[in-house]
Amino acid sequence: MVGTIELLGKEYPYTVKYKNIRSLIIKVEKGELVVSSSPYFTKPEIEAFMIKNERKLVKQLESYEPYLSVEQGYVTLYGVRYPLIINDLHKRKCELYNGKFYIYTKNVQSAFEAYAKDQIYHYTVNKIREYLSLYFDHQMPEVVVKKYKGRWGSCYYEKNLITFNLSLIYIEKELIDYVVMHELCHFLEANHSSRFYYELGLRMPDYKRRVKLLKGKHV
Ligand SMILES: [Zn+2]
Repeated sequence: MVGTIELLGKEYPYTVKYKNIRSLIIKVEKGELVVSSSPYFTKPEIEAFMIKNERKLVKQLESYEPYLSVEQGYVTLYGVRYPLIINDLHKRKCELYNGKFYIYTKNVQSAFEAYAKDQIYHYTVNKIREYLSLYFDHQMPEVVVKKYKGRWGSCYYEKNLITFNLSLIYIEKELIDYVVMHELCHFLEANHSSRFYYELGLRMPDYKRRVKLLKGKHV
């Protein structure tokens, strides 16, 4: 079910996904309201719940900034915004040149995602190599970069595999480094236990500052 709702005087679209759950969960995903609901909640109940939380929701909705906006003509790479120029030469290619970002196809989204995947793959692989040589006694894991919902990365320690979200492309490198270090520390400790944070703190003493900055970013 889809609908629109007025929150703090402005209309916002929303999507409701009925699931086999008991409660109502409202999230802002990529700047849009997504409700997971048990089948028993009615539309007025769902809307009343959104209105009850309108301040929090509007704050999240209004702070959303996509890493690529064709309408507004920009891309954000590693925390820096660049003007976007689309020049359709039927090539699935992007490049940063003289302070501007060029995309040479009208399939902008898919070309940019391929570019982001490649960038993040190389950046994280190099960073992992550096961190392994300095702080760990561990074999180089396999690295996969993909589109994810709700997380920056995951560590599959049994498979010696780390996956990263391609949306890391728009955040600052020091925050990507934190995500890399966090996932590597899962090879020492699977859970977010106090030992996990102890090991993390040994290797990245200012990690709390980075976590705080990362919390302000949408995945
Ligand atoms: Zn973790």
